[in-house]
Amino acid sequence: MARQLYTAHLDQKLLLSEPAQCFHLDFSVPEMDKFDFIPGQFVSTVARDASGKQQTRAYSIASAPQENKFGLCVNRVEGGFFSNLLCDLEPGDTVQFHGPHGLFTLRQPLTDSVFIATGTGIAPMLAFVQHLFPDSGEDRSNSRDIWLVYGTRYETEIYYQKYFEKVAAERRNFHYLSTLSRAKEGWEGLRGYVQDHVARILDQRDSLNHSVAVPTAAEGTGFDIHAYICGLNDMVSGNRDRLTERGWQKKQIIFERYD
Ligand SMILES: Cc1cc2nc3c(=O)[nH]c(=O)nc-3n(C[C@H](O)[C@H](O)[C@H](O)COP(=O)(O)OP(=O)(O)OC[C@H]3O[C@@H](n4cnc5c(N)ncnc54)[C@H](O)[C@@H]3O)c2cc1C
Repeated sequence: MARQLYTAHLDQKLLLSEPAQCFHLDFSVPEMDKFDFIPGQFVSTVARDASGKQQTRAYSIASAPQENKFGLCVNRVEGGFFSNLLCDLEPGDTVQFHGPHGLFTLRQPLTDSVFIATGTGIAPMLAFVQHLFPDSGEDRSNSRDIWLVYGTRYETEIYYQKYFEKVAAERRNFHYLSTLSRAKEGWEGLRGYVQDHVARILDQRDSLNHSVAVPTAAEGTGFDIHAYICGLNDMVSGNRDRLTERGWQKKQIIFERYD
């Protein structure tokens, strides 16, 4: 059965990083009153390439649900068809999509959570954080500790840094760490790969006597902590392996792979 296609209008385009050619794109969908999705889901954009072949690509929604709007965080992939099409859009241009799709969503009831992302894998994390800690309205974090561990190569690729720092300054249960794998001299922040910082967070949490690996008898998922991992496959696999080595169970580790 053909999927229902919608037309998204680009309202605003923000350059997040010139060197990485990464953009935040804000769309609205005039044919909808409300675009209903669960934070963490993606849309599938659809367009014909130069040979007339229909191409479809997935993009995580980089915003919490708000009216008929949604955001994307897209970086150009050299020689790539759809990433360049999206990054070349200008306000007023349109693109077709279907969705929302996907199961990369917060497990309920919400537990302590570690969000682990690299590159544009930050997109669904932005949706999670906006949803849990809205600018106005009710805090949905239920006092759970939420860590966002974001890894990238250079300082110029720390997308949405000011926003996450602001939330971390305002909410004592939101902890934001960004780490650089190829930091230049003079960088005073964290260095290295995300999995090392995740390990440190979990060691500290364990030492405070939290049970991490053993399911609680509690209601819901039976776990007192989950990890949500998003990015390229090597990073996702590396982080999953480290968590399973710690005794974490598969259902505690929710992931989205971009490749
Ligand atoms: C569930 C899901 C969510 C996604 N969300 C996002 C998102 O929020 N933001 C985003 O920018 N991308 C996201 N992606 C990746 C996106 O779907 C495309 O794969 C990416 O934009 C490249 O598409 P393209 O048409 O430009 O390249 P293609 O024409 O498909 O490929 C060109 C070349 O680039 C390589 N390539 C493909 N994908 C990548 C990649 N991600 N990084 C590096 N090289 C690649 C291919 O192997 C090929 O050699 C997501 C993927 C999935 C599966």
